[in-house]
Amino acid sequence: MSLENKRILAVGAHPDDVEIMCSGMLFLLKKIGYEIHVISLTAVACGSTEHPAEEISRLRQQEAQNACEVLGATYHFGGFKDLCIFNDDISNRRVTALLREIDPCLVITHSPQDYMSDHETTSLLVRNACFYAPIPNYETSSFTTATHTSAIPNLFYASPMEGVDIFGQKIAPQFYVDVSDCMKSKIQMLACHKSQRNWLRSHNGIDEYIENMIRWNEDLGQRASQLSDRSIICAESFRQHLGHAYPKKNLLSDLLPEQVVIEPN
Ligand SMILES: [Zn+2]
Repeated sequence: MSLENKRILAVGAHPDDVEIMCSGMLFLLKKIGYEIHVISLTAVACGSTEHPAEEISRLRQQEAQNACEVLGATYHFGGFKDLCIFNDDISNRRVTALLREIDPCLVITHSPQDYMSDHETTSLLVRNACFYAPIPNYETSSFTTATHTSAIPNLFYASPMEGVDIFGQKIAPQFYVDVSDCMKSKIQMLACHKSQRNWLRSHNGIDEYIENMIRWNEDLGQRASQLSDRSIICAESFRQHLGHAYPKKNLLSDLLPEQVVIEPN
């Protein structure tokens, strides 16, 4: 990875996932001159009781595009179908091709443990793509002309929904990012996903799309405050992939030294 590489990639299964998981941190990186790319693997054709699949898919892509404009990020659609994200050969090649086209220095995606399979499989596909993308003999020419990336990027996982796995066990974050100054922009970005609010209200009985996100970031802010010598109103939380061959240096903590608060072991 060259020192000039200032490309950041956030990958979510669905069009609003990146907003909820990590958009505060993306705003901070944008402010210090990083180029932000956002991929949504699906356009959520199933996520509606009001619109036919094709119509909601178009609508959600437009909403995702609008949200990325608030952030000043480039939006990419991954071309997967909702509830059809699988860890198979073709999916690994498709996600690797997307990564090769961007060649990021830092990648953020879902937690490997989360409340639904689309999120967990996205996490695994992204983890694999980070590893496969620099290998020139790993063939992705049906999807891209980009042959390989310069290196395995720093890989971070956001917290799962409500910070727990499917057994309700807490997934402890490794560190927090103080996003208090970006909450207004984060809310503005999530508010672009108008159709999702209606869908969640009818499917999950949740009518507090934005309020739930704020409460979650405030909870994380409280924990970050306990670890810090200052009051942190809102935070996002992350873990770094530290397996063999992946970079071990915490690039986020280097880039955002004022905002990162480490959770002691
Ligand atoms: Zn999602």
